[in-house]
Amino acid sequence: MPVEGSCHCGNVRIQLPSLPAWVADCNCSLCRRTAWRTAYYPPADVRISGETVAYVWGDRMIGIHHCPVCGCGTHWQTLREDFGRMGINARLLDGFDESAVQVRKFDNAA
Ligand SMILES: [Zn+2]
Repeated sequence: MPVEGSCHCGNVRIQLPSLPAWVADCNCSLCRRTAWRTAYYPPADVRISGETVAYVWGDRMIGIHHCPVCGCGTHWQTLREDFGRMGINARLLDGFDESAVQVRKFDNAA
């Protein structure tokens, strides 16, 4: 069933084919600050509208996007090679219930 989501102010809207079956809880230096719960989808399955700003750091492989108005982290996508997937901040999705999905701990602390 299609699912939609948005940042807090509504500037950025996300459409996906379904809610995720699992999400990642990553402990890297960025995620531990932002508390994303990341869901992964093929880019062709994702529709994002509205202006976002990308934060690029480290190895500069991905851009981590947020809404410039309200600041919510929205998604990340590759800057170069095709990963075949992108990350969506599942916290923005309508009906997302962290207690109803598997939360996988990603150990990326450096
Ligand atoms: Zn916003």
